[in-house]
Amino acid sequence: MDTYSSSSEGTLIGVIRQLASSHLAQAFLCNTLEAGAGTPEAEESVTKLERLVHQSESYYPLRSCAFVPAVYLGMYHRLRGQEEQARAFFQPALQQIVQTIGDNNPSNEELSDLKYTLARAGDIKNVIALAHRSDEDSSDGKYICCGPCKRKALIRDGFSICPICIEGELCPDCVKLFGSAIQRKRCHSQHVKYFISIPPLSKEINTGGMLVDGVEIDFETWLNQLKNEWVLNAHNPPGSTAGQFGISNFFLGFVA
Ligand SMILES: [Zn+2]
Ligand SMILES: [Zn+2]
Repeated sequence: MDTYSSSSEGTLIGVIRQLASSHLAQAFLCNTLEAGAGTPEAEESVTKLERLVHQSESYYPLRSCAFVPAVYLGMYHRLRGQEEQARAFFQPALQQIVQTIGDNNPSNEELSDLKYTLARAGDIKNVIALAHRSDEDSSDGKYICCGPCKRKALIRDGFSICPICIEGELCPDCVKLFGSAIQRKRCHSQHVKYFISIPPLSKEINTGGMLVDGVEIDFETWLNQLKNEWVLNAHNPPGSTAGQFGISNFFLGFVA
């Protein structure tokens, strides 16, 4: 527990609560997918997920909005084609992130949280724009497949993100292994149809620039477009309590 050794007891409890809530929320979402929409098992898991959301809403101690239970419930609605209901769960999380980012110099952790939340929300265009921005920021230009092959690649050509598990990226060869005898620890073959594939960067972009539909724009312009697309505003989301830990701490807890 060295990661949290400097935290106050109250904050540590907050971290543990959010980790537990996120694990549960992901388990409930996966249960609904595995049981199949409309089955009693799926309905039971959705009810549990909704209850968890009501218990934990307005709770963002880690600035890791992609992992709050409400975002998992948003995914449930999105994967069932209930776009309006889904947006109502994604909007507060996105609002929180853009509020934290401000207009300039976002940290890598903030950009990762935004990318993962947008991946949950199925906003593929903006997920790819953020992935390409981190390509440009990367100092060594290496991408590591988190599938069985563990290979490093110079170009992230067709690497995929699972929007449900968010555990890192998989190369195309490892994606093909899903459904075979080789399975990853947590991700499921049922998730493959939701994977978001990141195409190679089609042209050089300036550091900090964003490439959208082949056109480079600056980050502030892109962020304003995102705010318009998601109807985000300048007002504080209720009960936002961003704490001192970042998303990397959250991952440490998540993979432990
Ligand atoms: Zn691989
Ligand atoms: Zn998955």
